[in-house]
Amino acid sequence: MKITELLDRATEPLISYEIIPPKRGGSVEDVLAVIEELMPFNPPFIDVTSHSAEAYYEEQSDGTWRRHVKRKRPGTLGLCAAIKGRFGVEAVPHLLCHGFTREESEDALIELNYLGIRNVMALRGDDGGFQKPLPAGRTSNAYAIDLVEQIAEMNQGVYLEDLMDAAPTDFCVGVAGYPEKHFEAPNLTWDILNLKRKVDAGAHYVTMQMFFDNKHYFTFVERCREVGIDVPIIPGIKILTSKRQLQTIPSRFFVEIPEALAAEIEEANRPEHVVDIGVEWARAQTEELMEAGAPCIHFYIMQRAGVVKRVVEPLRKLA
Ligand code: FAD
Repeated sequence: MKITELLDRATEPLISYEIIPPKRGGSVEDVLAVIEELMPFNPPFIDVTSHSAEAYYEEQSDGTWRRHVKRKRPGTLGLCAAIKGRFGVEAVPHLLCHGFTREESEDALIELNYLGIRNVMALRGDDGGFQKPLPAGRTSNAYAIDLVEQIAEMNQGVYLEDLMDAAPTDFCVGVAGYPEKHFEAPNLTWDILNLKRKVDAGAHYVTMQMFFDNKHYFTFVERCREVGIDVPIIPGIKILTSKRQLQTIPSRFFVEIPEALAAEIEEANRPEHVVDIGVEWARAQTEELMEAGAPCIHFYIMQRAGVVKRVVEPLRKLA
């Protein structure tokens, strides 16, 4: 089922999750075990992130450095198929522009279509210091909107090559929104207008970057509606579990941690106490968002279910 259909049919706010694939060579069973733990909460859909190749250098015995280029976390599509096959839950693969040619994107979409996966998140991705050299004559989608347009065309039966009687795909497309603006955008208005362009190009819903102060969600939704973005907007929640995240999350994701939350975490004298604070904060955020009518709450859980279960358990009756 498409995410938009799941949202339309829901009689209460949905709770969804986002996981990352294991590192190259890691066990798929470990990730599936995380999902198994979440199954009693009837997840309507699970997003699986995508990771483009990164360059790294390895020192050789003669003192020279050898450059390697590798995807640390491949397997997004396969993991989605495994989730759907084993649990019957909709899995949403993230597809990136950066690091992939338009032909590779088309191939990935054909694979997904054959696998019966009907939802995709279209994202630009970040370079991570590396852009794969493109083979002659090949191009990459520059912005997420270009990928959205490519998928919208495939939904009309238009592929990169002029194909006779090509079967149209039927993807529901999600895109990213940034309540505190994307780090490259000069201001929120500019960023929201680019989001509107993605929706006008064919995106069906928006999933938001994490935020720790609900006022960002309320303002963002209001500003989106003002410019005519009328698709569902799904808030994203991250549960803080360590003091270190007070530095790493703002610097990596360009989001603010409210003074009250940062101060409470800073004063905690045991690691378990930090987790308790993070859980309580996320629960309060979630409850307020649900009461305010958010259609779905999307939890960024990486590869751990334990902490999110503490937030979700009181909100959802076990199946
Ligand atoms: P875009 O929508 O292309 O926007 C990028 C920037 O360019 C913005 O500042 C926008 O305002 C601007 N812009 C847009 N169009 C134009 C234009 N035509 N001309 C000039 N400027 C323009 N990253 C991963 O690598 N893997 C993942 O799985 C992943 N999942 C994510 C999930 C969510 C919910 C979110 C919020 C982010 C995720 N990211 C992921 C991170 C994302 O790839 C980065 O934030 C990236 O920098 C921007 O991606 P985007 O799709 O928002 O880009």
